[in-house]
Amino acid sequence: MKPVHGMGFVVLRTMKLRRFTNAAKALLLILTVTFSVEAAHYHRSTNPALIARAEQVTGDSFPVVTTTPRGVTVFARTTPRADILSAIDGGFSELFAVAARHGYRNRIRFDDYTVFIGRADRSKNSQGQYSPDIAVPAQQYAGTDYDQGGFIYAAGMVLAFNPCAFVIAEHDRDLGRVANVVRFEGEHLILYYNDRALYERTADHSRGGGHPILQ
Ligand SMILES: [Zn+2]
Repeated sequence: MKPVHGMGFVVLRTMKLRRFTNAAKALLLILTVTFSVEAAHYHRSTNPALIARAEQVTGDSFPVVTTTPRGVTVFARTTPRADILSAIDGGFSELFAVAARHGYRNRIRFDDYTVFIGRADRSKNSQGQYSPDIAVPAQQYAGTDYDQGGFIYAAGMVLAFNPCAFVIAEHDRDLGRVANVVRFEGEHLILYYNDRALYERTADHSRGGGHPILQ
């Protein structure tokens, strides 16, 4: 939305203003105000440091920003399909239901979360099953079974705690997997804000353990 308003604004600005009728001036004013509102909304829902981090981890850029029907902020390379956005909501719904069973109160709203959808660096796992994953630096996984030679394949990865953000890979099918990855990455963030000790014990899978952490 922002580029459309922005372009309208730029085009009008480059025209000769003195030739404008009053009506055209009014239109210019309206477009300018619309642009400002959009820009303000854009900056409120985003965070340059977070986007830089996502770009650095994935090697992708994320020109598209949208929200799911329930309010999760989503950054993507191309406009995500509606069923992908619904699958993201589904993953969070399950996560929040589990969180409620544990009496957790923090970060249990859809609009607490930002999801980046990055390019998949592989589409199948080593068993040949559909498994869109992203390659991320091995770091603490170096030398473990996960290590592919300096990187690991991850279904998702936490990017930031404030705002709560993680990245998943683009899927064109198996939306149940999308929901699961969202629910699983979300577990780390929910635990960070509601049970820090359990978060610390479960955050690093190079020391064993996986998902689900919470039942
Ligand atoms: Zn995990």
